[in-house]
Amino acid sequence: MYLAHLRLLTSKLGKKASRNLGAIHLEGRDKNRTVILMVEVHEESVYVKHHKAKLVYILSAMRHHAELLRSEGWLVDYVTLDDPENAGSFTGELARAIERHAPKQICVTEAGEWRVKAMLDSWHDRFVVPVTINPDNRFLATHAEFEAWAEGRKQLRMEYFYRNMRCKSGLLMDGNDPAGGQWNYDAENRKPANRDTAIPRPLHFTPDPITRDVMHLVTAHFSDHIGSMDSFGFAVTRADALKQQTHFLDHVLARFGDYQDAMLTDEPFLWHSILSPYINSGLLDPVELCKEVEQRYRDGNIPLNAAEGFVRQIIGWREYVRGIYWLAGPDYVRRNELGATRPLPSFYWTGQTDMHCMSQAIGQTLEYAYAHHIQRLMITGNFALLIGVEPQEVHQWYLAVYADAYEWVELPNTLGMGQFADGGMLASKPYAASGAYINRMSDYCRTCRYDVKSKTGPDACPFNSLYWDFIARNEAKLRGNSRMAMPYKNWERMSATDKSALQRQATKFLETLG
Ligand SMILES: Cc1cc2nc3c(=O)[nH]c(=O)nc-3n(C[C@H](O)[C@H](O)[C@H](O)COP(=O)(O)OP(=O)(O)OC[C@H]3O[C@@H](n4cnc5c(N)ncnc54)[C@H](O)[C@@H]3O)c2cc1C
Ligand code: SF4
Repeated sequence: MYLAHLRLLTSKLGKKASRNLGAIHLEGRDKNRTVILMVEVHEESVYVKHHKAKLVYILSAMRHHAELLRSEGWLVDYVTLDDPENAGSFTGELARAIERHAPKQICVTEAGEWRVKAMLDSWHDRFVVPVTINPDNRFLATHAEFEAWAEGRKQLRMEYFYRNMRCKSGLLMDGNDPAGGQWNYDAENRKPANRDTAIPRPLHFTPDPITRDVMHLVTAHFSDHIGSMDSFGFAVTRADALKQQTHFLDHVLARFGDYQDAMLTDEPFLWHSILSPYINSGLLDPVELCKEVEQRYRDGNIPLNAAEGFVRQIIGWREYVRGIYWLAGPDYVRRNELGATRPLPSFYWTGQTDMHCMSQAIGQTLEYAYAHHIQRLMITGNFALLIGVEPQEVHQWYLAVYADAYEWVELPNTLGMGQFADGGMLASKPYAASGAYINRMSDYCRTCRYDVKSKTGPDACPFNSLYWDFIARNEAKLRGNSRMAMPYKNWERMSATDKSALQRQATKFLETLG
């Protein structure tokens, strides 16, 4: 599912407006000679079984956006999912629209994933009407820029790409130098949080009649999809998304850097922005948002570690993973460097496990279609990596369950960063950790049935033995990685008895997963 391609413009169109949902290019177009086609199609709703709240967010945002366009005088041809004539696919709906409107030209924004790109590319041959594919104007780096940066490099490390983006955008730059004299203030970030600090909450937007209609539609058509709609509170218009943006800038951002990696029981959002669904679907403009962040810093309202940390996530990580996705090609999805084959444990779909960290991360995912970065990477991702889940299965799960998940951003994060399945194209080492890391960054272990300090025995934290089992199992592939030198040194130092006790413990636990 990718919004940028649910609309086709049936007249000669130019560039526009990052403010439009899904990057429709409308600037300079003639309202009398343009039909905007927006379609809700079954195929895009089920290629993975998207979380119900994700479907509600996207379909409701589309419907609200159609209303806005109409109110501005555009002619919008909107096909709902339950229209009996709906052909069920982008291509099928375009064919029907061509019959209705007999356009002289079709304009569409470039695809956001390889699957849809293949579809769009087939339209040139399939339809007699000329098809123009416009670039997606919601990113700072073009494909050509990323390719030029990557050309000839042995390692594609985000940090260096990010510096280019800082220079290109001028964000947090003092002339040619980074603000404050350093590019990166991570050393000041990543503190554990405690409950004494007042914890902010994101705004909750009560579903309006349009959203409630979509909820009924989702109940009727996608009841077998994962997740709940009961706590649905996403903004579905740009105006409301901007309210969440301002709320974040005013009340949350100052401590974003400090608590970026923190986790607390029953606190799903902490000091995160909860803006990714809006940025990825086009309700918010990433560069405009970063400029606001910089302004808060320049005005003395937020510290540099928070401003820099946030800007890095957007013009660094977000742009970089997109670059990797397109550079790596359509076969990237099949990479499996560590040869992992295990199925995804069934509790990923229910949250029912005694591991408190996992039940927290999965439970809030089912409820809100949201988990923050460290939960995705170091809890659910780490666990799948340690037990050796087949990367495709992990990918399909992440793509389905998060409201912000689109393949261009989800796949490199999951396959590359989370599972090391690309052999280090994206990450310099696997993000594998034992219970000690989770205990350091969260309060989850305090109320867990397992003992985070134990490595063996019936109460031992599963992450501990699984971590060492992972290290041992993947020795041939990972020992040569200089960033893995320390774990392998520690593994070597262990006695044979300790090693086999850990591996027996891991095997026993894995048997319980079925
Ligand atoms: C396994 C895994 C899967 C992920 N899947 C997705 C996904 O499908 N869609 C998605 O947008 N992000 C994904 N991420 C990145 C990140 O977890 C989310 O962007 C973030 O949690 C969104 O919540 P937030 O808006 O509160 O982010 P904040 O913590 O407030 O961060 C601010 C913004 O920075 C951007 N950002 C931060 N980290 C990343 C990153 N690694 N890649 C891309 N953008 C980033 C996002 O736009 C985010 O809104 C994934 C990370 C992992 C480890
Ligand atoms: S003890 Fe282990 S399983 Fe339990 S919350 Fe801590 S890390 Fe997770």
